[in-house]
Amino acid sequence: MTMDLDSLVRTVPDFPSPGIVFRDISPLLADPAAFGQCIEALARPWIGQGVQAVCGIESRGFIFGAALAQSLHAGFVPLRKPGKLPPPVSGVDYQLEYGTDRLEARTDALRAGQRVLLVDDVLATGGTLGAARALVQMLGAELVGAVVVIELDALGARAHWPAATPLHSLLHY
Ligand code: AMP
Repeated sequence: MTMDLDSLVRTVPDFPSPGIVFRDISPLLADPAAFGQCIEALARPWIGQGVQAVCGIESRGFIFGAALAQSLHAGFVPLRKPGKLPPPVSGVDYQLEYGTDRLEARTDALRAGQRVLLVDDVLATGGTLGAARALVQMLGAELVGAVVVIELDALGARAHWPAATPLHSLLHY
């Protein structure tokens, strides 16, 4: 039986700033059956696809990414906020609504041609996932696809995602 994962995502208006509707996945994580089903559902499209590394985006992408990597018998590689990883690091800057941010990985974290799956909790404007894609490609790996738990459809990120690279979402708001 499939659980109603939606009911375990808490909606918090005006967090962390006015006008933002925050999708809080912590009730889902705290429910062992729901978290297990969530990881199974995230993994399902990628079974047999030869995924060798799962790259999780800091910080909630680490939670799903580590479990997903184990489920797919792949390694886990963290993509981190600037200044967190010891050198040598490679990074990609990207645009936020106000200002810029940056994702970094260890320069030798991925091998040329290694088959990589990206994971994060929420796809909003798509800037973060787009930077993660650029970083994986900059490191020479092959991006097999990306998966998020929640896609915020109204923000239209999917329109800017390359059609040839599968992008799966479990829940849509
Ligand atoms: P974006 O780059 O706009 O797609 O934002 C995605 C990143 O910001 C993800 O790593 C999310 O964890 C976080 N994020 C953006 N919007 C939300 C939201 N409404 N609720 C929870 N997390 C969010």
